Amino acid sequence: MSGLQNKIAVVTGVANQRSIAWAIAKKLLINGVEVAFAVESEKAGKKVQQLLRQLFEQYPDKVAEPVIIECCDFHLLGAAQPLSPVKTLFDVISNRWAKLDILVHSIAWTPALGLPLHEVKQQQFLDTMNISVYSMIELARSALPLMQANGGSIVTLSYHGAQKVIPGYDVMGVAKAALESAVRYLAYDLGAQSIRVNAISAGPVKTLASSAMKNFNDKLEQSEQRSPLGCNINTGDIADLCAFLVSDESKAITGGVHYVDTGLNILGA
Ligand code: NAD
Repeated sequence: MSGLQNKIAVVTGVANQRSIAWAIAKKLLINGVEVAFAVESEKAGKKVQQLLRQLFEQYPDKVAEPVIIECCDFHLLGAAQPLSPVKTLFDVISNRWAKLDILVHSIAWTPALGLPLHEVKQQQFLDTMNISVYSMIELARSALPLMQANGGSIVTLSYHGAQKVIPGYDVMGVAKAALESAVRYLAYDLGAQSIRVNAISAGPVKTLASSAMKNFNDKLEQSEQRSPLGCNINTGDIADLCAFLVSDESKAITGGVHYVDTGLNILGA
């Protein structure tokens, strides 16, 4: 794929081989992007190392040596930490490359999964918003000095529960609506510096996070039966769209929410 060569990326949110972020990172790596992984825990760091070893075996001459930064846990944001995990992350990028072209935010979490919205406690609401929305704003702010000289592209992951009621999605739907709004405001504020910000609204795909949702298999079944294309997406489909959105080929596209859901979002009831 053209328009990706010599670019530097930060990819967040790889937990395992099923993660949307892993499909994106793989696509970027095999297209010549140098990638720094910011992962939540040491366990996730080991998993990424294992996945990378397998990728190197497949593409020994294509994939550059990546950087893995562990313990980038957004629970720690705002806590009385001597060193913010985000500061550590961008210090490493700054020392190694002194620039950044691509930021992929693929993080979401709520302690109130499955609760009807009116039963969500204030702290649960704040934790959901902090990890699923504020993390992107914090990452964008920290990326700014490294993107300022040449511009850049930021992509986050959303879901149609931001726009319409998806039973069971509740507080995450509210968070995704805030995330999509944040994409528009960041795109406006950062546009003058040639930094583009977009969201991908993905159809249901089985991952660690989505498997925790009650009746997730029903959602997959319904989407396969009802969507115009009559099938479900896979994480590679999301990676293809993301690669376009972070490449020079999408240089005039910013502030949008782009669906990759085999057309499910166009349906009414
Ligand atoms: P995943 O479980 O593989 O990824 C979620 C990631 O969030 C994990 O890597 C986890 O480490 C990270 N995370 C959670 N809490 C964190 C914290 N406190 N600090 C740092 N990182 C934290 O699942 P996924 O489905 O690949 O999810 C990635 C993104 O895609 C999420 O934003 C999700 O809402 C979105 N999405 C998923 C689907 C789907 O059906 N799977 C559909 C649309 C959008």
